[in-house]
Amino acid sequence: MSYDKLTLNNFMSGLSKRTPGEVEFHQAVYEVADSVIPFIQENPKYQDANILERMTEPDRTIIFRVCWEDDQGQIRINRGYRVQFNNSIGPYKGGLRFDPSVNLSILKFLGFEQTFKNSLTTLPMGSAKGGADFNPKGKSNREVMRFCQAFMMELSKHIGSHIDVPAGDIGVGAREISYMFGQYKRITNEFEGVLTGKGLEYGGSLIRTEATGYGCAYFMEEMLKAHNKQTKGLSATISGSGNVALYCAKKVIQLGGKVLTLSDSGGFIHFKEGLSLEELEEVIHFKTVERKRLSEYIDAQEKERSDLAYHDGKKPWKIKADLAYPCATQNEIGQGEANQLISNQYTALAEGANMPLNIMAINLLHEAHILYAPGKASNAGGVAMSGLEMTQNSMRISWDATELENRLKDIMQNIHTQCCKYGKQADGSINYVHGANIGGFIKVANAMLAYGVC
Ligand code: NDP
Repeated sequence: MSYDKLTLNNFMSGLSKRTPGEVEFHQAVYEVADSVIPFIQENPKYQDANILERMTEPDRTIIFRVCWEDDQGQIRINRGYRVQFNNSIGPYKGGLRFDPSVNLSILKFLGFEQTFKNSLTTLPMGSAKGGADFNPKGKSNREVMRFCQAFMMELSKHIGSHIDVPAGDIGVGAREISYMFGQYKRITNEFEGVLTGKGLEYGGSLIRTEATGYGCAYFMEEMLKAHNKQTKGLSATISGSGNVALYCAKKVIQLGGKVLTLSDSGGFIHFKEGLSLEELEEVIHFKTVERKRLSEYIDAQEKERSDLAYHDGKKPWKIKADLAYPCATQNEIGQGEANQLISNQYTALAEGANMPLNIMAINLLHEAHILYAPGKASNAGGVAMSGLEMTQNSMRISWDATELENRLKDIMQNIHTQCCKYGKQADGSINYVHGANIGGFIKVANAMLAYGVC
């Protein structure tokens, strides 16, 4: 059997039959299959072993009930998940997401993408994703603690420093990781590096919080350099104001770029003169310590400011700029938003979030020759730093911030090099989607081939 366009369709229709209704998962697989099938055609050993089909089936999926008590004494029930996707090149590794939108399709898309991303880092990490349909927003610290403890009660049976090492994602930051790590330690009586993103006092790594955003800005810089450009002097729009967005903003400013926007699910702020590092620190405090919304940030300003504008319910892509960094959530840029970026003559886009562009938007950007970096390459800095946290835990040492940032920069450069190697097109241009997908595929596929039929 040979893979041709028709077989891509056959492959996808087989997947849809096996996994009905999992639309986000299908979207993520389609993007990879489109890149990898021509490569498999040229390398039949992968086809003979049915590697792509095997890669789209998680090793196992664990779904469980999480019961916890709220501050009013009511018993609440949520659904917890861990999708252990592939451990061919290392222990399962990937974040936990707490958000009401969490379902199996979203976690499978994230776990599948993680396979390629983790491979691209060159660190020995398999792939997984998990979480719960729990909404930490509006909950007291005690409620979040009770939920995290109840969640870990079950999750602890399936993870371990050599088995599966979860980290944070949307709705799971330092507070949640700490509650879960404390509970794991209590259940097992073991102090081990079972989670990453831990506090510095108990095995965490410097720069972990910053790593995804910093890495994204570094990847953009590499992509620009390869096209004789640089961040310095360019303007940028960023969506989101969470972990990834805030530190992406910081590094973009440090690299000499001008950050024009930050957003949340309520709307976006336009910093007309560019966000300064001092003001960014205020926003970081506002979002991460006070846990408030951007609209409240505007309301909290002492005097009317003509350099700030809040756009209620809107996304930032209508603002004219050179660089775009979508750092909020999946599918935040569709056809309409892509057309806005094109008409505003953007130069490049690097994904901080996972799958923030749908396939139509990616195609439109490619056709318009806007440089486009897929998240599995450009947001791999977070998991790379998690890998370095695991290394530090195993060696019982702590590297300093400079050492870690240099390693992060090297890893992002290396991922960029892999994208160029496998994504080079006949006309000399680089297709970063093909580059990341093929570059990530090879290592995992070779390991699976070596294990035989399993
Ligand atoms: P956070 O929870 O810290 O922040 C998420 C941000 O996105 C918030 O500002 C949130 O606004 C906004 N947001 C969420 N959903 C929507 C929506 N439907 N519409 C508009 N804005 C929305 O998450 P992270 O920063 O950790 O993660 C952001 C993205 O980056 C996710 O796709 C995640 O998978 C990806 N990622 C994260 C990594 C990490 O290390 N944390 C690593 C690699 C990828 P609000 O506060 O109003 O909800």
